[in-house]
Amino acid sequence: MILQPIDSLQKTRILTVTEDFLQRASELFHFRYQPLTVSFDLKGRAAGQYRVDRNGRWIRYNPYLFARYFQDNLDNTVPHEVAHYVVDRLYGVHRVRPHGEEWKRVMRVFGASPCATVNYDLTGIPVRQQQRFPYRCNCREHSLTSIRHNRIINNRAIYRCRACRSALVFAGL
Ligand SMILES: [Zn+2]
Ligand SMILES: [Zn+2]
Repeated sequence: MILQPIDSLQKTRILTVTEDFLQRASELFHFRYQPLTVSFDLKGRAAGQYRVDRNGRWIRYNPYLFARYFQDNLDNTVPHEVAHYVVDRLYGVHRVRPHGEEWKRVMRVFGASPCATVNYDLTGIPVRQQQRFPYRCNCREHSLTSIRHNRIINNRAIYRCRACRSALVFAGL
């Protein structure tokens, strides 16, 4: 059974809570309030995502995971993503570790748990399944997409590790 995504009433509620956190953040951390784009098009295992691209700053929410764990996501995922935004405004998103001390500090100020991972039950939630294949080089393990795996199997490509430059070898299933 496929779960239904959130309805428009729930969307409005999520947007309101997100706005509240953004307002609070701009007061607490003293930066000028700027609205950011919020979309509900995230799929897969993550409930939320903060991203910066040439269109600006975004928060994306997973409408299926929000539907199943609505209150939990309001309490956790919304401050989680807004905290990424705050860290980005204060330090620059690529200058600090994603869930490092800066992010944790913002979460504590929000009164939210500074714990980065939650494990939700994904039964009935559409997850893009891209099969991955284990590979090894001389220094670490790699996980390759089926496209790359097939190229290697068919002798159409060799991939090298960026770190040690040795060729990746299939490590079996
Ligand atoms: Zn995060
Ligand atoms: Zn390597």
